[in-house]
Amino acid sequence: MSDTASERVSSAIRELVDANHILFDQGVVDGFGHVSVRHPGQPDRFLLARSMAPALVTEKDVLEFDLDGAPVKAGGPAAYLERFIHGEIYRKRPDVVAVVHSHSPAVVPFSAATGTKLRPIFHMCGFLGAGTPVFEIRDFAGTGSDLLISDNRLGAALAQSLGQGPAVLMRGHGSTVVGNTLRQAVFRAVYTEVGARLQTEAMRLGPVTYLTEGEATATTNTNNTQIDRAWNLWLKAARSQSMAT
Ligand code: MN
Repeated sequence: MSDTASERVSSAIRELVDANHILFDQGVVDGFGHVSVRHPGQPDRFLLARSMAPALVTEKDVLEFDLDGAPVKAGGPAAYLERFIHGEIYRKRPDVVAVVHSHSPAVVPFSAATGTKLRPIFHMCGFLGAGTPVFEIRDFAGTGSDLLISDNRLGAALAQSLGQGPAVLMRGHGSTVVGNTLRQAVFRAVYTEVGARLQTEAMRLGPVTYLTEGEATATTNTNNTQIDRAWNLWLKAARSQSMAT
């Protein structure tokens, strides 16, 4: 690799470590959940931490995987059981640069409730558009699975359910959110959780007015210009709480 290519990888790794810490500090991930970024020089690879709690990830914990979810360097540390989520989404969606998978708690009820969809009730969640699809793992793994996306076949089925959208809920499990930058994926993961919480509160008050398709698009376009503002705040907050050594 040239010095420039190598610097791009180092910089992607540093930002990925920051993303791990922000997602914990913002309550999107806990001991579980993970975030990846597509390799900046090799689009058929992605960067993802070894199997560990996101808040504790450091640069040396970040591994490189191919789209099958196989580590590029064999014989390394244990990898996340659900790394196939990432590889199969990168394979199906050339526009996606980063993927966040989490069990963020306000979102989970929307994965299990059959009568309602996760939809934007306020402008920061405009990217959720007309509603978020729910992936039903029983359709692919039967009624006795552990609900995890633990192989490429299930990863491909989840990627299919995501379609061209920004987010997919996973029934009885959590959600997966994508972005065309790492910062956008983190922004969306945080605001998917916030939006779910607010939608639940609004529904408790009575019938809810959701954003129109036009409002969803317009708010998304505006918010996409403001992502660094949130990122810089969240990064400072995460660093002041940092648990990684
Ligand atoms: Mn999971």
